[in-house]
Amino acid sequence: MSLLLRITQRVPSLNFNHYFRAKMSTHNNRNERLRVLVDMDGVIADFEGGFLKKYKERYPNDPFIPLEDRRGFWVSSQYGDMRSDLCEKAISIWESKNFFIDLEPLPGGVEALKEMAKMENTDVFICTSPIKHYSYCPFEKYAWIEKHLGPEFLEQIVLTRDKTIVTGDVLIDDKPDILGVEPNPSWEHVLFTACHNKHLPLESPQRRLQSWADDWRALLESKRT
Ligand SMILES: [Mg+2]
Repeated sequence: MSLLLRITQRVPSLNFNHYFRAKMSTHNNRNERLRVLVDMDGVIADFEGGFLKKYKERYPNDPFIPLEDRRGFWVSSQYGDMRSDLCEKAISIWESKNFFIDLEPLPGGVEALKEMAKMENTDVFICTSPIKHYSYCPFEKYAWIEKHLGPEFLEQIVLTRDKTIVTGDVLIDDKPDILGVEPNPSWEHVLFTACHNKHLPLESPQRRLQSWADDWRALLESKRT
């Protein structure tokens, strides 16, 4: 068989029906595979709980904000509003060695991601923004993922300060406003409920995942149709 013949036999014929059906699908013409982006802090790793524990240990004589009173995404802003010096004290906690590696997994998150990764036609990525004080955070995020999810998940990490440039079908994230250079990100942002965002009204048609006990499987299925 000639080389040319062998090559042409490998090229799938162009089928415009297929082309248009794929273009119209809700998941962006990517071979029918669903791409799920999952945030780390506040979604699979307990940032708020870990912060409060270490803050109270380090600054036992300073006031603190119980988790049920947390409002707003930025911990340091709410602490700074309480007393101006507490902003820097809050920041000192997550800039310290072992803060990120010591975070406890949030209930059900690790199990959900492992199950998701085994689902047919599903690609799951952990999409997380490291803090700019980079001495420990990026390393410890990798170490945390290896420790709790296994070394195979080291292939599934996206570290970025701008999630709008990452393509995916759905982004599960506890940050209410996810902004960046791309005005129309490809993903649907599903708000993962956290102590700081649970009181926020959603703007239709935004959806929430209340926790990993919520029906995340149905959420994924809704993106496949
Ligand atoms: Mg987060």
